[in-house]
Order: sequence, then C-alpha cells, then structure tokens
Amino acid sequence: MKECINCKTEKQDSEFTKCKTVCDKCLQHYRTLKQREYYAKNKDKINEKRRREETWRINEKTRSRTINNQFRTGKLNIKSPTGQATITEHVVFTVLGDCVKLNTNEKFTSLYDLESKSLNNIDVKSSSLMTRYKPTSLTRWCFHLHINTENPDNFVCIGFNQDRSEIVKVWVIPGNCDKTHSANINVTNTANGLSKFKEYEVDAAPYNTIYKNLNIYELPEFRNLKQEVKA
Ligand SMILES: [Zn+2]
Repeated sequence: MKECINCKTEKQDSEFTKCKTVCDKCLQHYRTLKQREYYAKNKDKINEKRRREETWRINEKTRSRTINNQFRTGKLNIKSPTGQATITEHVVFTVLGDCVKLNTNEKFTSLYDLESKSLNNIDVKSSSLMTRYKPTSLTRWCFHLHINTENPDNFVCIGFNQDRSEIVKVWVIPGNCDKTHSANINVTNTANGLSKFKEYEVDAAPYNTIYKNLNIYELPEFRNLKQEVKA
C-alpha cells in the first residue's frame, strides 16, 4: 500500500502501474484533462486535419470504385498505376512461364501478384528511371513496398527507362533479404549503386522482348478499350 501524491489516498501497489507516485486513476484523469485542453487550443487545426482525412477517404473510395469498375469491364486505364502494374505483371507472368496470377477479374484479394513454381510467392514491382537529386544528373529506380504486410518470397523488380518504352533492368530480390526491410528499394543508376544489387540482377532482354511485343488488348483488363487508342 502507498499514498498517491495527487489524491492522497492509500492504494494497492497494483494501482501504480504507470507512475510510482501518482495512481493510475489520477493519471488517466490528468491525461483526459490535457487532451481536452489540447483540443480546445488547437480546435481549428484538428478539425481541418479531420476534414482533409475525410476528403481523402472519400476520394480514395471513388478512385478504387472507378478502378474496380474499369477492371471488371475490361476498360482499365493503361496509364493508371493499376494499368501499368497489370502490364508489368503480365510480362513477368509470360517470361517466367511457371506462374498463376493470383489477382484476376473474379477475385482481387490476394496479398501477392503471382504464384510461381520456381520463385513461390511473387510481388511484381516496377519503376521508371527517375532523377534522384534535382541538382545532379544522378538517376535511380525506386520500388515501393507494402510495409504493413509480410514480404513475398521474392520481389521481381522491373526497371524501365525514363519514358517507360523499354525494360532495361530486372532484379529478383528475396523477400527476406536486408534490402527489403524498408518502405522502398532504391537502386541508384551508378556503377556503385548497381553493384549493390548485382547478385539479384537477371537478364532483362527476355522481359523487354515480351514487353515490346505485347498486345495489351488481349488482356482481359484492357479487352474493351478501343483498339485505335494505342498506349
Ligand atoms: Zn490518486
């Protein structure tokens, strides 16, 4: 038993879990007061933030509804991130030749993109070559990973040139290696940068050949786009 310095009440030791001298109940009360005070002071800022988040949520909902609708009806926007991901995924699917697509029109729920006999679960990532720092001419590829989900067995990272007309680099990077433990895989386009990923690099030529010869209108996702609107 000991006395809380705030309420001056004798209490069990087990009621002092957060602080040695102030009891949990007083501490909770104090925190609530602080929170109310903070809210009163920053009301406008907080409300504005809530409004922004709400708008973002609504936009996100509309966006995902549009994409799903495009996907279902075979009119997926080629230039949209989902459209580009679909194309890249199909290239990898074709080159590896031992995969099933895990996300199709019928079910769009899998965590990973492909299931391969040789590489097991695969997530396909793509990036065009981008300028790294504005004042210099350094370029890089940046592949964004999902940080909240478990990594697949392998990431197949497709590096395009600047205007995405060609596939120039391909890396197959294991999901459990130290390079995949952050939100992005960054490959700087210098001898030193590339050497760090040398062990994961595979021949990009077959990928580029498939990409260049792909008739995307044969894919169910794009089947109903007007043929004359070439990507
Ligand atoms: Zn107390």
